Amino acid sequence: MNEYWEKIKALFRPKEIVKDINSIDFKQLRARGIRALILDLDDTLIPKEVNDVRPAVFEWVVTRKEEGFKLCLTSNSRHPVRVQYIGETLGVPSIFMGFKPLPFAFWKSLEIMGAKPEETAMIGDQLFMDTLGANVLNIYSIFIDHKKEEAMLVRKWMRQAEQWLLSKLGPAGPL
Ligand SMILES: [Mg+2]
Repeated sequence: MNEYWEKIKALFRPKEIVKDINSIDFKQLRARGIRALILDLDDTLIPKEVNDVRPAVFEWVVTRKEEGFKLCLTSNSRHPVRVQYIGETLGVPSIFMGFKPLPFAFWKSLEIMGAKPEETAMIGDQLFMDTLGANVLNIYSIFIDHKKEEAMLVRKWMRQAEQWLLSKLGPAGPL
């Protein structure tokens, strides 16, 4: 039972926890052999309620490209126009309705970037979708813990469950 619980915890435990995309050490990621980034869109790259690309986000993406990272925007969003518009504006391939944590959108992203799981990081703000999906496939998981107030009750519950689980997982990183 204990061993089983440890395995489950390892599946949910992010390799890194940061408060936003600007707090990630990309030099260190490069040193780990990471050269491709799967990016969640809503509340990771851009707030869910925002539809345009702010200069700071554009600059963030340009900098990552200059550093040599391949990028793919991989969203569970059911709004194809939003995802495609933002992807095209940023010059980054995009996937909508990705059904993370299922592996299909992750596989597709790897294929688009021509990257292997072990040289890829997933940056996302949902433990049950972004982090879990990445960990299952041995993609380096970076969890954005922005502690943003959710408006919808169901999402509030999910955030509470996320924080509860995080408190049980112990510090970020491999077991
Ligand atoms: Mg998100």
